[in-house]
Amino acid sequence: MTVSDRYHRQRLVADIGDEGQDAIGKGHVAIVGVGALGCMSADMLTRAGVGTITLIDRDIVEFTNLQRQVLFTEEAANTHQPKAIAAAERLRAINSEIQINAHVEDLSPKNIDRLLEGVDIIIDGLDNFNTRYILNDYAVKNNIPFLFAGVIGASGNVMTIIPNETPCLRCLFPEPPPAGSQETCDTAGVIAPAIGIAASCQCSDAIKILSNNRKKVSPTLLIFDLWNTQSNRLETGNPHDSCECCSKSNYEFLQPCSSPEAAALCGQNAVQIPSNGEIDLDQLSDRLTSHGSFHRAGPVLRGALHEELSDEGKNIVLLCFEDGRVIVHGTNDVGRAKAIFARFIGN
Ligand SMILES: [Zn+2]
Repeated sequence: MTVSDRYHRQRLVADIGDEGQDAIGKGHVAIVGVGALGCMSADMLTRAGVGTITLIDRDIVEFTNLQRQVLFTEEAANTHQPKAIAAAERLRAINSEIQINAHVEDLSPKNIDRLLEGVDIIIDGLDNFNTRYILNDYAVKNNIPFLFAGVIGASGNVMTIIPNETPCLRCLFPEPPPAGSQETCDTAGVIAPAIGIAASCQCSDAIKILSNNRKKVSPTLLIFDLWNTQSNRLETGNPHDSCECCSKSNYEFLQPCSSPEAAALCGQNAVQIPSNGEIDLDQLSDRLTSHGSFHRAGPVLRGALHEELSDEGKNIVLLCFEDGRVIVHGTNDVGRAKAIFARFIGN
């Protein structure tokens, strides 16, 4: 150990030492979703010296991201850089000694084996439940720790899933919530300090696991509310006997046919996101009022989003159907359409 070693202060932590730091340097962490949570996690783990970091994100940097997505600059927003690429560039400037992989892709059952090959830990930086459930099944099936977190407003939930030892997401919440039923950071807002709490919990567990201190990971669900200064850790116990994933090895979210695919609509510069259950259009309309002028006509809610522009510089238009389908007009990029859906409608 030398004082010129960048990891000196981390090696000084009693449970880490040289051995733990060497193990961290051999670790491979995937960060799925490089938004607010993913940026903070990627920054901390890059500085901690995790040997390989794989970033996966389907979206581009926007001006409204800069309040909390700490790896991005005004230039990245102005030039609409893909988040994974912009983040990787910044991370390489912070630590050139580690390997950073960047994938601008929409993680799905079809590409998950390729994107997550060889990873030791999966960090949830997602903004949608559908992809989280895919990750949950993949993690349990392949025995990879999965560090779940979700933050809205000033509140968050964090839980580290150690397959076969602690409950998975489906033990606690057997099904993802229906589309449009939950607030998202784009509709209810979010403050960066809440992201910081959740990302810090994820990263400290990642460092514990990689440095051979897995026994220090607490088998609990952390629920916090910074605005009202409240927090609670619920004991989660063992994987549930009734869980389809943990107990019955039924990994239905990994089946490519488990959910219909979003598809570009031929010649329309639009993408249709298929139904994931009915949408309450009145509730959705209320939530979208600050983002555009939305009007309901029978089973359809239509409106243009102020902040989202098409390639031609016009506002992106959403058509939301009561049966749960949504058509995103103004792009034929399926990944971008799904990102807009996740942020404004939520699933
Ligand atoms: Zn389970």
